[in-house]
Amino acid sequence: MSTTLAKPRGRHFFANPGPTNIPDSVLRAMDRGSIDFHDPEFVAVYNDAVAGVKRVLQTRHHLFMYNASGHGAWEASLTNLLSPGDRIIVLESGYFSEEWANMARSHGLDVQVIAADWRRGIDIGTLRSALEADPAHDVKAICAVHNETATGLMLPIGEIRAAIDEAGHPALFLVDTISSLGSLDFRMDEWKIDCVVGGGQKGLMLPTGMSFTGVSAKGFAAHGQARLKRFYFDWTSMSQRLPHKSFIGTLPTNMFYGLRESIRLIDEEGLSNVIDRHTRLAEATRRCVQVWAGNSGPQLFCVNPSRYSNSVTAVLMPEGYDAEAVRRATRQRFNVSLGGGLGKLNGKVFRIGHLGDLNEPMLLGALTAVEMALRIEHIPHGRGGVEAAMAYLAGQSA
Ligand code: PLP
Repeated sequence: MSTTLAKPRGRHFFANPGPTNIPDSVLRAMDRGSIDFHDPEFVAVYNDAVAGVKRVLQTRHHLFMYNASGHGAWEASLTNLLSPGDRIIVLESGYFSEEWANMARSHGLDVQVIAADWRRGIDIGTLRSALEADPAHDVKAICAVHNETATGLMLPIGEIRAAIDEAGHPALFLVDTISSLGSLDFRMDEWKIDCVVGGGQKGLMLPTGMSFTGVSAKGFAAHGQARLKRFYFDWTSMSQRLPHKSFIGTLPTNMFYGLRESIRLIDEEGLSNVIDRHTRLAEATRRCVQVWAGNSGPQLFCVNPSRYSNSVTAVLMPEGYDAEAVRRATRQRFNVSLGGGLGKLNGKVFRIGHLGDLNEPMLLGALTAVEMALRIEHIPHGRGGVEAAMAYLAGQSA
């Protein structure tokens, strides 16, 4: 007799906050043989895809792309812009801001963290004061994660930019848009971001494996002075590699056929409609969780409504109950995959991803599986969360 569990039948519902669902047409677009990455046919596909990512980023600046997950783009952002011993500020938001800060320390940077309660996010006044307290402009860069995937908290990048300007500080502004691009409003040029860190596997609906950095003119000028060691991620070497002006080594050609298709899908829906859909699905999720919170049940981890994330909701378990039991039940019984708690939130939260290729019934399916799992695992909760989500969604127009 087999000891492995039978895989539940029916479609796998993927409600992780990244990677995300890959649309069938993106999979079909990638399903092709190899092509020389200098072939004019491919170069045209490449150029279309890159121009599309720039439209989504709302930038006119250059993109450097990598055969790497988001960590690679993080490393590229630090090593291309900074020198050993440089002081940088990292705005604490959760697990991913911690990891970016840890990476910076391992490269010999002097990291000052603007500390925050993970459920609320930073006080922007504290950042302004830290910058005003640096008249010599020793701080070379400020790093912010736009959407903290671990906590379901979004930082107001436009307001942070305004605080940097009010302090009159020239530090470079680095922003991680890995789980916000193609889901939340994001404006690289308007917010004067010097380096944007992005990845393909969330709002851009691609398989994992490609990431990128958008770099402003100020960022590229700073790169000329930066002395941290780099080779694979070096922007100067990339700039000289024609015609792509990006990538060291072989390009992932199939990924670009997929990317061109995912951009076509975003263009077809319209970027503002994509953002509205994410807003709608996120609000439905929160209304559902707010009902579950009754009867001392699971509650929204983020307690700052102006910073709710519209691409992921982290749900905090009641004391003494394990979030992994909920994830196990949804996966084993209903073939629904949720995100787990990261770092110090392991076992304490589960995360519902509502970004990328997702619609109302897909979201409701995942929420229904969670509500059933709460019953199965005898976790106290308010009844009727899914009903609240349905009532909200039914009242919205697409
Ligand atoms: N930054 C954020 C906000 C993320 O959500 C992630 C991954 O989920 C990363 C960075 C790291 O990216 P990757 O796992 O693709 O290396």
